[in-house]
Amino acid sequence: MSSVKETVLEINLAHLTNNFKYLKSKVAPNVKILAVVKASGYGSDASVIAKHLEKIGADYFAVAYTSEGVILREAGIKTPILVLHPQPVNFSKLITYQLEPSLYNARTLKEFVKTATSLNQKEYPVHIKFNSGLNRIGFGEHNVDHAIKQVQHTNTIKVISLLSHLAASEDHEEREFTLEQISSFKKATKSIINSLGYAPILHQSNTSGILNYPEAHFDMVRTGIGLYGYSNEAKYDRKLKPVASLKSIISQIHILKPGDSLGYNRAFIASEITKTATIPIGHADGISRQYGNKNGFITINSKPAYILGNVCMDMIMVDITAINCKEGDEVIIFDQTSSAATVAEHVGTISYELLTAISPRVKRVVIDDN
Ligand SMILES: *Cc1c(COP(=O)(O)O)cnc(C)c1O
Repeated sequence: MSSVKETVLEINLAHLTNNFKYLKSKVAPNVKILAVVKASGYGSDASVIAKHLEKIGADYFAVAYTSEGVILREAGIKTPILVLHPQPVNFSKLITYQLEPSLYNARTLKEFVKTATSLNQKEYPVHIKFNSGLNRIGFGEHNVDHAIKQVQHTNTIKVISLLSHLAASEDHEEREFTLEQISSFKKATKSIINSLGYAPILHQSNTSGILNYPEAHFDMVRTGIGLYGYSNEAKYDRKLKPVASLKSIISQIHILKPGDSLGYNRAFIASEITKTATIPIGHADGISRQYGNKNGFITINSKPAYILGNVCMDMIMVDITAINCKEGDEVIIFDQTSSAATVAEHVGTISYELLTAISPRVKRVVIDDN
């Protein structure tokens, strides 16, 4: 493989295919796959990811905000797109782009019906979000019936799905709580379907729900992190392949003498002869200051090189005293071997945060060996 010449985020589409197929093999053949491509496809490139998934058979897409759905439509995506967390200010744009809102409370339901009516919509597809215990967004068991009555009063909208979200599907210690969320969703949907007189698509599982709770697969599952190659669990991580690899290059090497300081605020002072490499990636690229002062590391020649001193806006300096390397060599921030999950864990965070932090100024390079 050729080595990189600047900081790049490689997006591997063969890995995406592998992950999609693996997750699909975990659900019954009739269960639809909704691919979550919010936050630029978990920090990669939503349009590239969605185009590929549309080609290999994703049934639905989801984004968090209306603007993210607009980007996908402008890229030519035709598959239905669920907007998980829209605001009324964007409802008319949402309709213009044929996006489908998750309506999560009386405020959004009322405003959506109002906007859809004013735009002469008939049976516009909407999704009703049920709060089964996450207590983030969603109708509760006490107000969902009222919402359904309002839906029945209008032919402006049609409920295409009922959804809920699990709070701790990756945490085996919370099994009892998760099972309660599942039975609460089952109970609520049964009564909603009764009132509606038809059965919308039911969905509650994220990636860890797919892997840990077959009883929560219903008609569709929503997978985000799994598609990008992470499962929150080692035994499944072995089957998945990280889609994104963040790579860079050694710009310059310095030899510090004992007493020499390094970087802003002189946060590192050498106590012995120390060889350092300066890398063109910093907190403006998504490597936060938490990673500084030997908390975080990158990989050079298969060896960990810890970050010395403070992370700068556009650079980090790493310890290469024990590593054989030279200026111009490629370095790995994360890839398949040194995963974003492992790197993130070192500073007490999760793969999701490290991946989605990679800023737009990092060049995306698509690798497609299909
Ligand atoms: C982000 C999100 C998902 C995807 O979760 P993963 O753990 O990444 O699979 C699914 N559903 C909702 C409502 C979400 O907000």
